[in-house]
Amino acid sequence: MRICIKGARLIDPSQGMDGPADIWIREGLVETICRAGSSLPGATEHTRVLDAKGKVVVPGLVDMHVHLREPGQEYKETIQTGTMAAAAGGVTSLACMPNTDPVADHGAVIEFVLHQAQKNGSVRVHPVGAITKGLKGEALSEIGELREAGAVAISDDGKSVGNALVMRRAMEYARGFGLPVISHCEDKSLSGQGVMNEGEVSLELGLRGIPALAEEVMVARDLLLAEWTGCHLHIAHVSTAGSVRLIRDAKARGVKVTAEATPHHLILTQEAVRQWDTDTKVNPPLRTQQDVEALQEALRDGTIDVIATDHAPHARVDKEVEYDFAAFGISGLETLVGLTLMLVERGVLDLQEWVRKLSCNPARILGIKAGTLAPGSPADLVILDPESSWKVDPARFYSKGKNTPFKNWTLRGRVLHTMVGGRTVYNLES
Ligand SMILES: [Zn+2]
Repeated sequence: MRICIKGARLIDPSQGMDGPADIWIREGLVETICRAGSSLPGATEHTRVLDAKGKVVVPGLVDMHVHLREPGQEYKETIQTGTMAAAAGGVTSLACMPNTDPVADHGAVIEFVLHQAQKNGSVRVHPVGAITKGLKGEALSEIGELREAGAVAISDDGKSVGNALVMRRAMEYARGFGLPVISHCEDKSLSGQGVMNEGEVSLELGLRGIPALAEEVMVARDLLLAEWTGCHLHIAHVSTAGSVRLIRDAKARGVKVTAEATPHHLILTQEAVRQWDTDTKVNPPLRTQQDVEALQEALRDGTIDVIATDHAPHARVDKEVEYDFAAFGISGLETLVGLTLMLVERGVLDLQEWVRKLSCNPARILGIKAGTLAPGSPADLVILDPESSWKVDPARFYSKGKNTPFKNWTLRGRVLHTMVGGRTVYNLES
C-alpha cells in the first residue's frame, strides 16, 4: 500500500526544501516528493491519502538526550511509555543514556534495551554506552563491545568523569571506534551539594548554589582533551554564557566539538525556583537571564548545534519532598515542539534552522539514518500544526514522569501525527 501526504508545507533542510508538496510513501520509505496536487505516474495501487493542507511536515525529530529508566527504574518510565511520549512529542529517533540499573557499561545491557525497544517501542531507540564501569569514573567500559552491540556514543551522563587521564583514554578509544563522547560537564568539587544556580536568588532563598564555574571548568578541560586526542566531543546540556564562549573559541580553532542545549535552559531562568516547585530542580540548574540570552545567541550562530530534551522522568515520590531532597530533572518529550516553537516565534530561529537543530544535526552527530525525507530514506516524519494552541496538562502525558515546570502553560504548535517507517505511531485525533 502507498501513502500520500497531500498539500503540506514540507520543510526539509537536508534537501533545501521549503514549500507545498505531496509526499509519497511506499514500503516504509519515502518514494518521491512531488509538486502539490500532481499525481504520481504509475501509482495504481491502493493509496491511503492524508490531507495535510495548512499543516507543516518535517523529518521526524531526533532527541539525542533521553532517560528511558529501563532497566531498573521502571516505576519512573519504561521503554514502552518513554517511546510513546517520544512519538507524541514528534520524536521518531532517540538516544537513551546509560545510567540505568544495571548501568549500560557492557554489551548485554545495550542488547536488552534494543530488544525491548524492538518489542515494545514506538520509535527508534539508539542506546548510549557508559564511558566507565558503573559510571564510577575509574575503569573504562569495553568500548568496542558497546559499539559492537549497537551503542551510538559513550557518556557517563549524570556525572562527569573526574579523572582527566581516564577521560583522555576514553577519548582515544572512542576516536578509534568512531564514536562521539557525550560529556556531562560538572566539577563535583565545585557543585558539591548545590541544588540551584549560585547567585542572588540562591542567597535570598537560602538554598545551596551550584556555580556556573562548576560547568565551565569541566567544559574547558574536555575541550582541551578533545583537541589533544582529536576525538569528537559532544557537550550535553550547556547552560552558561561562559561555556558558550569556550565552545565558540574551540570551534573557531577547529576542535571537533558539538553541543546541545535543552528547551528549559533556553526558556527559564533561576527566577522560576522562587515558586518552590521542585519540578524546576534540574542539573545543570536554571541559570540567569544573561545565560539564557547567550544560549539563544549560540543557537543562532551555530555554536550550539542541537536542542535535546534531557527527558528525565521521575515518580511523584521523587519530587514531592523538600527542594533539597528532590530529584533533578524535567519530563521533556511532550513539550519539546511547543516550547521550541516559542523560540521561532521570538525570532531566535527560523523554521528551517529549527528542523536542523532538532533533526538533521543530532542525526548527523549520532551517525544514524534520520533527519531527512530524501527519496529512499525511512518515512520517519511529523505532521505539525504550528498555529494550534494547547494547555500543558501533565496528567495527559504518555510519560510516567509528570514532572514539568511548564504545567498549565499555553503553548502554540502541536504534533498532529507521527510516523516511523511509514507506520503511524501517534495521531492526536485517536
Ligand atoms: Zn541527562
